[in-house]
Amino acid sequence: MKLYSPAAIRDIKDRYDFRLSKSLGQNFITDAGVIEDIVDGADIAPEDLVIEIGPGIGVLTAAAAERAKRVVAVEIDRKLMPILAETLVGFDNIRIINQDIMKTDINGLIEEERAQGSFTGDVKIMGNLPYYITTPIIMKLLESGVRAESITIMMQKEVADRIKASPGGKIYGALSVAVQYYCTVEQIAFVPKEVFVPQPKVDSAVLKLTLRDSSPVELTDKSVFFSCIKQGFGQRRKTLHNSLTGVCGLSKEQIGEVLTEAGIDPGRRAETLDMDEFAAVANRVAEHSGR
Ligand code: SAM
Repeated sequence: MKLYSPAAIRDIKDRYDFRLSKSLGQNFITDAGVIEDIVDGADIAPEDLVIEIGPGIGVLTAAAAERAKRVVAVEIDRKLMPILAETLVGFDNIRIINQDIMKTDINGLIEEERAQGSFTGDVKIMGNLPYYITTPIIMKLLESGVRAESITIMMQKEVADRIKASPGGKIYGALSVAVQYYCTVEQIAFVPKEVFVPQPKVDSAVLKLTLRDSSPVELTDKSVFFSCIKQGFGQRRKTLHNSLTGVCGLSKEQIGEVLTEAGIDPGRRAETLDMDEFAAVANRVAEHSGR
């Protein structure tokens, strides 16, 4: 019986009296092609360390461990520990950590593994993310400056669409600009909801986020850039002249000057600005607010 089959999941549930938790986003993959798409997309080399978020019963974990030097999987559900011990029994290169990924010091973990000499290659992050905290997990990884090459993750299709959106549309927002600031974004696969147990209400997509070596725009102060994005999209129906008023303590009149100097029509809205334009605005805001 294949581990990723609905029958294997049923068997595990029965033998361990395990109940799939909706609140932990437990929708398990039952399709070999999707597992292959994710591990192929993660581009795992034989000397690499893979960090997996939310291994569940270990289907992606096993596939990654066949390719990587070392796999460290972080799973919050204590009830999955004995199950993973059984499903991954044949591997000697897997470490399971029973912890909340939001409370995990990922860079510390990477350094610990490197210091132990458990891998010599790159670090690839991978996972079929629990839907209820997809965005917080992504932002935590990026804002903490995670020292990894790439992040290959499955998520709700709607979130993937927002992340890869270009300026001009309704789905382009703070999340698009923030993720695209840190990474290049590529969609690896579309995944229909039918391949999960239990079946969620929505389809999924796999994105590969490749961390940039350097910032795509020149910024005087990164925190001002993010404040402008947050404030601009926070009131996205307003013109930039109105939505940005108050950012870094600037008055409406000063925001008018900022936009004129940045060459942006004050009547435009945040969703029409590309990253270069946000950077131009943010650098002017930094200048006017003495940052
Ligand atoms: N990787 C498995 C698969 O693809 O079949 C399971 C994916 S399931 C969508 C998400 C997994 O993340 C579940 O095993 C769940 O228990 C785990 N999880 C949920 N919240 C978590 C958290 N805060 N930290 C770590 N793991 C979490």
